[in-house]
Amino acid sequence: MSKLIWDRGRAGRRGFRVAKPQTPEVDLVAYLGNEHSQELLDLPEVSELDVVRHYTSLSHKNFSVDNNFYPLGSCTMKYNPKVNDAASQMSEFREVHPLAVDALQGSLEVMHITQEYLSKISGMDAVSLQPLAGAHGELTGLMIIQAYHRDRGSERDEVIVPDSAHGTNPASAAMCGFKVIEVKSKDGMVDIEELRQKVSDKTAALMITNPNTLGLFEKNICEIEKIVHDAGGLIYYDGANLNALMGIVRPGDMGVDVMHFNLHKTFSTPHGGGGPGSGPVGVKKHLEPYLPRPVVVKGEDGFKLDFDRPKSIGKVASFYGNFGVVLRAFVYMTVLGKCGLRKASELAVLNANYLKALLEDVLDVPYSEGTMHEFVATSKDTDLTALEIAKSLLDYGYHAPTVYFPLIVHEALMIEPTETESPETLEEFAETLKEILKNPERSKSAPHLMPIKRADEVKAARHPVLTRSQIAE
Ligand SMILES: *Cc1c(COP(=O)(O)O)cnc(C)c1O
Repeated sequence: MSKLIWDRGRAGRRGFRVAKPQTPEVDLVAYLGNEHSQELLDLPEVSELDVVRHYTSLSHKNFSVDNNFYPLGSCTMKYNPKVNDAASQMSEFREVHPLAVDALQGSLEVMHITQEYLSKISGMDAVSLQPLAGAHGELTGLMIIQAYHRDRGSERDEVIVPDSAHGTNPASAAMCGFKVIEVKSKDGMVDIEELRQKVSDKTAALMITNPNTLGLFEKNICEIEKIVHDAGGLIYYDGANLNALMGIVRPGDMGVDVMHFNLHKTFSTPHGGGGPGSGPVGVKKHLEPYLPRPVVVKGEDGFKLDFDRPKSIGKVASFYGNFGVVLRAFVYMTVLGKCGLRKASELAVLNANYLKALLEDVLDVPYSEGTMHEFVATSKDTDLTALEIAKSLLDYGYHAPTVYFPLIVHEALMIEPTETESPETLEEFAETLKEILKNPERSKSAPHLMPIKRADEVKAARHPVLTRSQIAE
């Protein structure tokens, strides 16, 4: 068996290399003195160049917005300007110790301004940047709602969730200990009559997404707000679709009590493959005492972390959340400014409507009136399933749209082009889709050009292979 050697001589502080056991160099295990690594790793004997080629070729198999069009509905895969990344890599931010509050003044100021920007954009009164993703923001927001009701001596234990909601909504409510009560959609919107029947003195909150996951603006939002508030419940707003509204409408003006933002979606951080994210929570005045602590505040002699919040639900993340993502969002908002953000939303809506119109002849969009930043088509009247269309698109260099979600549309293809795509890209994409639909036979067995063809998805979900030893089996 070959031995992994820490080669200080040649590769300086950086390199590991694999060498024969008799090589008179420092033994990695002895060098690191790690009792858990007594077993030497059984690694293949390969050169650095081979390792570089292996990982570089794997990295080229990644798909990103920087390669190609990525119309993954609900995820807002817009272009992430490189200036955001550059700022997040500045040593002034990256290399300060998170406990050295004096040295952190710049970072705290960025957080404070970001909180203010988000408050202004959303119409909420206070914001915490701690939650690490949208779903984490949901959990945080629901914990705030729970704390609020408990504080008032009320044991409300039901959360109402529309059937068009993202799966994280009912999951977060259940995780927080609430009973999930589903309310059906009617014509793609929350069914008001059913909502009236579902609210009661048990209702802690309604979770609502607006525009909803069909890309439609819940036009009865004011009535919905009144029904829930009259019953003593609060409104939780899932802000994942804020990309349709920036500078146009504010959740805070729709009667929302608490909401989350998905900084990685709306405010541009690369987030394929599940991370990293940031899901700040915004609240109205009456919920401010319950925000996670510490809160960044501006004092007379600089910015401070305020831990003195007796009603706070506590910490929900280590230190200050995903600061790198917050920093990217800060740069993004600063560069675009008030008018730029509004324009981004207007273009996102325009692009979705343009693409929908281009596909009108070939794909039906069941709930089509009032499309905002995304739309949900169905393939049920074509020769292909949504999955077959999605797999075929991969061969043409496109990322697939979201499929089979929301659940209320059969054979759903959820398409969100975002504002950063040109009309030409959308036209090419529409042509490709038409081509695919014209040649259904080839698509039945697609993808043909991907490293992995059709995976057994049920088996992958039921029996995931997560360790090296499972691969050997
Ligand atoms: C993405 C999304 C979420 C969850 O956000 P994460 O940041 O992925 O945890 C919730 N609701 C909707 C509508 C979403 O699109």
